[in-house]
Amino acid sequence: MTATTTHFENSWEFARQLDQEDELKYFRERFKIPSHGHEHATYFLGNSLGLQPRSTELYISRILEDWERYGVEAFFMGADPWLEYHDKLTGPLTEIVGAKSSEIVVMNQLTVNLHLLMSSFYRPVGKKNKILCEAKAFPSDQYMLESQCRIHGLDPESTIIEVSPRKGEDLIRMEDILQKIEDHKDELAIVLWGGLNYYTGQYFDIAPISKAAHKADALIGVDFAHGAGNLPLQLHDWDLDFACWCSYKYLNSGPGAIGAAFIHERYHNRVVNRMAGWWGYRKETRFKMEKGFIPVNSAEGWQLSTPSPILYASHLAALEIFEEAGMEKLRSKSVRLTGFLQFLLDEINRKIPDERIRVLTPREIEWKGCQLSMLVPGKGRKIYDSLMREGIFVDWREPDVIRLAPVPLYNRFDEVWRFAKELEEALNSVTR
Ligand SMILES: *Cc1c(COP(=O)(O)O)cnc(C)c1O
Repeated sequence: MTATTTHFENSWEFARQLDQEDELKYFRERFKIPSHGHEHATYFLGNSLGLQPRSTELYISRILEDWERYGVEAFFMGADPWLEYHDKLTGPLTEIVGAKSSEIVVMNQLTVNLHLLMSSFYRPVGKKNKILCEAKAFPSDQYMLESQCRIHGLDPESTIIEVSPRKGEDLIRMEDILQKIEDHKDELAIVLWGGLNYYTGQYFDIAPISKAAHKADALIGVDFAHGAGNLPLQLHDWDLDFACWCSYKYLNSGPGAIGAAFIHERYHNRVVNRMAGWWGYRKETRFKMEKGFIPVNSAEGWQLSTPSPILYASHLAALEIFEEAGMEKLRSKSVRLTGFLQFLLDEINRKIPDERIRVLTPREIEWKGCQLSMLVPGKGRKIYDSLMREGIFVDWREPDVIRLAPVPLYNRFDEVWRFAKELEEALNSVTR
């Protein structure tokens, strides 16, 4: 069996065999797995809050020790001076998101970063003021865009253009996105897209969207909350103007983890409008505390406040695991894990005459990551409850959507198999 195997069998033995052959299997031991009674729970919510690496505690405790030992001097002293800690994070991130290290800044949290970057890149001028986004974007992104319009004195209703799935369809078609950009090219200021939709799990082909936006003389920013650490990204080569993501989902850096942003290098040496703070000031003379803002000539020029070394530490602990495993291998296992899940769902549907599970996520492996979202009409909530009782952690959304994400760092094939078994039993026993 090779990494490209697409042949699956519906048996426990087969799932166990895949686990035995899995070259990443030992990474599971690097994480703390939640428990259910005396056993490990089956945790499929790495798309919501990734699990805790065993090393996180140690990394954080080192920060606390340096704080204890040196006080404020810990910014300059100790084995890992806090002032230089940021540079340890950008290395592993360049691999994960496909960018130069100068294009990455680790700071704040996601919605904050979206606002900061919009303040630089959303510059409505006259009728060229429209924002294009996906319909049903993550709520925080919607609120962010609404308020950005209002800040500029614009009406969100008429300023935000949404692209929706066609009637009767679940997914947004690429051709419709490109057409909308073309239709509105004279009034489009910016495209703000969700790289992987949190609800359907649809992953978008960003390069052509980026190209179309630029051709329409508009900018493009992408929210990769569900993309970072899930799929290999190429932010620089896709020629995005900016992007941002959070680190507590697939990146396992803990609740409220420090987020990050990508800003294309073409902006680093230009005069750009931005919200400024002392942490974005040129490093050599930052502590002279002089009047007149001079930014760092990199994405770091967008920083505002003193970052938390505690959050840096929990981020680093997680990133080093990614570095060791490698995005390519992670993606290859993910393709098989989620492929196995899709296969088992097909098996269930085959046994049940009137198709009871409808997978919303694209079937094509290149247009999805770890996550599958499924609609279980009339039974979603009850099935969710029965899975949770069995210690299988998945997510439920109105109306009847169950979402789950087997992740390659700590999930196993036999867990996917067990989920399918429990789901089938629940489908047969739960009434509407
Ligand atoms: C998870 C998520 C957020 C959450 O943002 P925070 O500011 O970190 O709370 C925003 N947007 C998308 C698309 C998300 O998936």
